[in-house]
Amino acid sequence: MSTPLPSAWRNWSGLESASGLDVLVPADAAEIAAAVTRARAAGRTVKAAGTGHSFTGIATPRHVHLRPEGMRGIVAVDRDAMTVTALAGTQLKVLNAELARLGLSLHNMGDIAEQTLAGAISTGTHGTGGRAAGLAAQVVGLELVTGTGEVLRATATENPDVLDLARVGLGALGVLTTITFAVEPLFLLRAEEQPMSWTDALAAFDDLTAAHDHVDMYWFPHSDRMLTKRNTRMGTDLDGAAPLPRWRAWLDDDLLSNTVFGAQTAALNTTPRAIPAANRFASRLLGPRTYTDIAHKVFTTERRVVFREMEYALPRAAGLEALRECRTAFERSGLTVSFPVEIRVAPADDVPLSTSYDRDSLYLAFHTHRRADHRAYFALMESILRAHDGRPHWGKLHTLETADVAPLYPRLPDFLALRDRLDPDRVFTNAYLDRVLGG
Ligand SMILES: Cc1cc2nc3c(=O)[nH]c(=O)nc-3n(C[C@H](O)[C@H](O)[C@H](O)COP(=O)(O)OP(=O)(O)OC[C@H]3O[C@@H](n4cnc5c(N)ncnc54)[C@H](O)[C@@H]3O)c2cc1C
Repeated sequence: MSTPLPSAWRNWSGLESASGLDVLVPADAAEIAAAVTRARAAGRTVKAAGTGHSFTGIATPRHVHLRPEGMRGIVAVDRDAMTVTALAGTQLKVLNAELARLGLSLHNMGDIAEQTLAGAISTGTHGTGGRAAGLAAQVVGLELVTGTGEVLRATATENPDVLDLARVGLGALGVLTTITFAVEPLFLLRAEEQPMSWTDALAAFDDLTAAHDHVDMYWFPHSDRMLTKRNTRMGTDLDGAAPLPRWRAWLDDDLLSNTVFGAQTAALNTTPRAIPAANRFASRLLGPRTYTDIAHKVFTTERRVVFREMEYALPRAAGLEALRECRTAFERSGLTVSFPVEIRVAPADDVPLSTSYDRDSLYLAFHTHRRADHRAYFALMESILRAHDGRPHWGKLHTLETADVAPLYPRLPDFLALRDRLDPDRVFTNAYLDRVLGG
């Protein structure tokens, strides 16, 4: 006898939850179409679930909840076109491992790989640097079930308007069933990690991002320390790999970055006055290191310490000034924060609802421990980010509503028109989509 599916849902950060759901695990597009048609006729909503890694309520279901477990795995590899098609519920870490076995790789990705492919592209998940930082910008085809139960295939030649807009679709246009990514031969990345002072890191920022393919920085509030990570593409000869010894990877990435950091930040919630000294200590624990490994092992790490996050994409030219303003405002505020601020960059892309649409971006991400109250900190930072025309990550906390979103996205009218066409009865809506897109 199979175990009954839980009718309740909670996201990774614990900020969003729902209960009394009608939970299904569809195995193909036909089963999804049937569920959508039934829900539409009954005036109910359908929400496709990823792994719940969005901090916002973008994935929060109301009535019918479609879980991803029945739609996983690679379905086609085209070595001439250099594309790979996978079922939409496949986790990124599974795709990465399968691609590596095939001698292939995605071009770029964010810093974890737990997400489903559909969940990751739908919120505009991105990494840093590269030719295409956002996963959605690497998508060349997809299939989805619309709000009228129709199964639509979208490529550059078939329904190209749907492909254009549904790459970052916010779960508002349909249930994705397959996604086709452009891929490239498996390649090595050399990672150089080095602590720097705030002043030196900001002074070197433009040179570092010009000299290295992927640059990521972490500033520890209450300290003058910036951890910098520069990744450089080393080609496709895998004999050049020099991964971290297992003990070092365990010490830095598991013990220090997860176990010790988790215990320390949890304890600091009860003694916030100790945070500044603890941050200065933490920023010194992770020393310089260099290693070379296949791309996805360098891009992604495990994050077991549960936190809350807000991230905005700023026009690249305004980004460092905004960061300086954030630090000044933070230091005047008297707030204490135990998690670092992450700084990344991305090239402009052509995905209409991507946070990097049509402009080079600098991303600033703010975090707090899950038991700390993030609200005053995020509100203070958000006022600065918004003053610089920042666009919030769709999956990370922010307070924007439709009227605020509209001026940031010139192609929003096209997106809303496609939503009217593909989901006229708003089968896919929820409170978050009502807030950012309107009803
Ligand atoms: C620890 C951590 C690290 C992170 N690192 C990064 C990072 O480096 N860069 C970055 O940009 N973001 C990052 N994120 C954010 C994360 O990538 C996004 O929130 C992403 O959407 C999560 O994917 P998911 O599978 O959990 O999707 P969910 O959060 O479950 O869902 C997201 C959206 O996708 C929709 N969806 C899911 N499946 C389908 C489907 N089949 N069809 C249509 N819509 C669907 C959902 O309905 C919802 O609208 C991080 C989040 C966490 C918690």
